[in-house]
Parts: sequence; C-alpha cells; structure tokens
Amino acid sequence: MATDYYAVLGVRRDAGQDEIKKAFRRLARELHPDVNPDPKTQERFKEINAAYEVLSDPQKRQVYDLGGDPLSPNGGGAGGFGAGAAGFGFSDIMDAFFGAATGQRGPRSRTRRGQDAMIRLEITLEEAAFGTTKELQVDTAVTCTTCSGEGAAPGTSAQTCDMCRGKGEVSQVTRSFLGQVMTSRPCPQCQGFGTVVPTPCPECAGDGRVRARRTLTVKIPAGVDNGTRIQLAGEGEVGPGGGPAGDLYVEIAETSHAVFQRRGDDLHCTVTIPMTAASLGTQVPLQTLDGLEEVDIRPGTQSGQSIPLHGRGITHLRGGGRGDLIVHVEVQTPTKLDPEQEELLRRLAMIRGEERPSGQFAPGQQGLFSRLKDAFNGR
Ligand SMILES: [Zn+2]
Ligand SMILES: [Zn+2]
Repeated sequence: MATDYYAVLGVRRDAGQDEIKKAFRRLARELHPDVNPDPKTQERFKEINAAYEVLSDPQKRQVYDLGGDPLSPNGGGAGGFGAGAAGFGFSDIMDAFFGAATGQRGPRSRTRRGQDAMIRLEITLEEAAFGTTKELQVDTAVTCTTCSGEGAAPGTSAQTCDMCRGKGEVSQVTRSFLGQVMTSRPCPQCQGFGTVVPTPCPECAGDGRVRARRTLTVKIPAGVDNGTRIQLAGEGEVGPGGGPAGDLYVEIAETSHAVFQRRGDDLHCTVTIPMTAASLGTQVPLQTLDGLEEVDIRPGTQSGQSIPLHGRGITHLRGGGRGDLIVHVEVQTPTKLDPEQEELLRRLAMIRGEERPSGQFAPGQQGLFSRLKDAFNGR
C-alpha cells in the first residue's frame, strides 16, 4: 500500500462519511491550487483528492481496506484538478468553496426530450361501456421540417462558440477571503450549449420545433371511467433540438347520462311507479345500454326495493364481463283523489282492516331508500 489515505485526510480508520467529507473539505480549502499554487502543495492536493475519491465511495473504500488499490491502473494519482475533474469529487471541491453544487460540467446538449402532453376527451356513458374509437385534434410541437430540428437555417450549421471554445462555460479568477479562486459559470454567449447558431432557422426561430395540428385516432377501451388516462407513447411534444417526443395522455371525461348514474361498473337508476302497480305487479319498459327491455315489477314490490339487471352495466376494464344495472323502485302514493277513488280506497282499507293501522315503529331510518340515498350522498 503506497499511501495511507486515512492518514492523508487525517481521519481514523472507522471514520464515517460525514467525518471524511468534512476533513476533505477543510484540506481542499487549504490546499487548492488556486489558493496555494506551489508544486508541493499541489502534490498534496492530488493526494487528498485520491484519498477522498477512495474513502468517500463505499465500494472503493472496501477494496482499499482489504489491501487492494481501487485507483489502479492509474496508481495513486487521480489526474489532479482540472483534468477529468467531472469524474470525481469535483462538486465536492466546489462545495467546499461555495457551499453549493455547481451543477453539471461541460456544454449542455441542445437536444432534450419533449414534454408530455395531456388532452381531455369527453365520451358518453355508452362509449365508456363498450369502448370506441375517436379522432383527436392534437396541437403540439413537432419537428421543424425546414431545419430537421437542428435550429439552423438551411445551408448553415451550428458553430463552436468562440467565447467558451465549445466548453459551454467560462471561468473567471476572482479574489476572495480564500485568496484567488476560479469560478465557472455558463457561457453567456451560447447559454452553455457550447455552440451558437449564427443564422437561426426562419421557420422555428432556432427552436427546432414548430406547433402543428395533427389528427390522431385513439382507441378507447371499454370500461374507462372519469379520469382514466390513456397513454400514447411518443405522441407528445417533440423535444428542442430534434429531441425525442414525450408522451400524450388522453384523460377521459364521461358526460353524465340522463337516466343512469355510474358507480364503479354498475349503473343505477330509479323508477317511480304508482302504488297500485307496486301492489299488483307490472312490467315497465326501460331503454338500457343494450336496447329496450322490460323491467319486471313483482306484485307487492316495496318502495326502495331494487331490481338488478345482471350484466347490463359497464364492461370491466380488466378481465372482461360487465357490471349490473340496478333499478331502484320508488312507490308513489296517490294524491288528489276524486270522490270515487277515495271511496274505493276507503273500502279497500275497510276490507283489509287498515282503517286505523297502529303502524310499526323501529329506531332510526329503516327504509331501504333512505339508506340508499345516504350511500349516494356519501360517494
Ligand atoms: Zn427550423
Ligand atoms: Zn459559449
């Protein structure tokens, strides 16, 4: 083992990461070449960088602790400040000086992935139940065909920025309490891209993208609900500089239905029938999603009773099969009786011995219908 990295940083062998980082920062401030340019100090600066590179990385540290040389084949030297600085601990060095990360190094790419886009699509309950295919008008950024996304006018091309010589950043030596320090900031001429476009494309003003309206055909699967998002990969905005497109999300908004209320994959509706029909039984026609059907009201049906029509609801989005259509019965008590009707009802009451009914009392609300209403309100 050529170098005792723990000794270089002045920490114990069992030092934690915090301790190692602290020791490194302290030494980096003292020994930084910009602060202290004499060759011997620079040699030590390289040493502490190498030590920090090894000890701050749990894997390398383990290799080192086991007697190996994690920095081989380069030996103990880790390139020193400047060369290959992005590879190790550079931001830590900058942290030591400025207390914050300086961001990534080198020119940033003009090419970036485009943003995702979202579009709302209204569909009817029937469409949600059975699925549909929709044509969508989408307004997004597409690659500029004039410059193929490169942003340069036809016949011209981006050129290396002369201010930063393509590095995307410019350095400045300033005096501070530490002595002379070098700071870097994104190049103001090229905004950090490292290249400039002398003649921007007239079509897209150099962005590489133009807005365009497209028509997309979207398949909406059966069973979608309010808020369901359908992802169309790569149909979002293309990125700047000809970057790949983001995704397009189609968010489903279901319009409300005149008769049916959807809860999950079941549909609910209420049918109001006269007292006599509830007592004698009848059939009432109902336009379901599948067409006209007769709802069978059995004799003696009570208000609040529900009649399920199995498999007449919404298709399950996953797994197939369908929910139910549930018809809730509300029995209407006749009002505004004419003398003949009143006479008939009085006779009926007399025959049934119901002229002075005692009534059946129970705690709270017992009616099916009131419980159901609670359930609706509690949604
Ligand atoms: Zn263009
Ligand atoms: Zn530049």
